[in-house]
Amino acid sequence: MLLTLLTAATLAQGPVIVLDPGHGGSQDGATSAGGLVEKHLALTVAKKLKARLEAELQAKVTLTRDTDARLHLDERVVLANRKKPDLFVSIHANSMPTATQRRVNEGIETYFLSAAASGEDAKKVAARENAEGRQQAKGPSGDTLAFILADLQKAETHHDSSRLAYAVHEALIETTGAQDRGVQQAPFYVLMGLEAPAVLVEVGFVSHPREGERLADAKYQQQLADGIARGIAKFLGQVTARDTRKVREGVVPAPEAP
Ligand SMILES: [Zn+2]
Repeated sequence: MLLTLLTAATLAQGPVIVLDPGHGGSQDGATSAGGLVEKHLALTVAKKLKARLEAELQAKVTLTRDTDARLHLDERVVLANRKKPDLFVSIHANSMPTATQRRVNEGIETYFLSAAASGEDAKKVAARENAEGRQQAKGPSGDTLAFILADLQKAETHHDSSRLAYAVHEALIETTGAQDRGVQQAPFYVLMGLEAPAVLVEVGFVSHPREGERLADAKYQQQLADGIARGIAKFLGQVTARDTRKVREGVVPAPEAP
């Protein structure tokens, strides 16, 4: 069975979604001069998003952390895969190191996994988000056939990660009116090894004077959650239509009832 197979029947039971608020505990993530801390912002947006997804999509939503707790990047991946989610969204915020960069850089970026970064800026963002490191490096296991199958499934999942990234990003820009920094690709640890379409959203720059203020505002945080939720709904609609067609045409067998 394809990992991403999502028919109308499975969707009607409520999609399974894992949200991952970045950082936590001793890991603050990005911080602003005004006192905005990425780990708190990410958790707040994730909680608002969870409520919205449960109310509108009857989704079964799990947060990788729902308190200010430290969690390793690979622990997030293991925790997420255990839920066998239909999709995964990691929530982060950006910042810039120098005063000049802090004045000019604002806006939203949405990432999906790739071995090579889509540019120098994307490479830096991945390096910053990966700085916490992993507990352990894991390689592929199992026999060759299982490995090839897993790889094929990854190709399909990768394609859907790109689809999810565009759906979420476009809805976010539309809902918030934030500056559009585009859909990008980079090697994020937290997206590696995930057995589901997965994206990482940088919801804005806490270091930008105006955007930093907006990000601290509860109404704007709700807009961010609404935008991501709309993008997720659009993605689920697209994938459900495709997979339902595949099952109907006999391309793939119907998924077994859980
Ligand atoms: Zn982060």
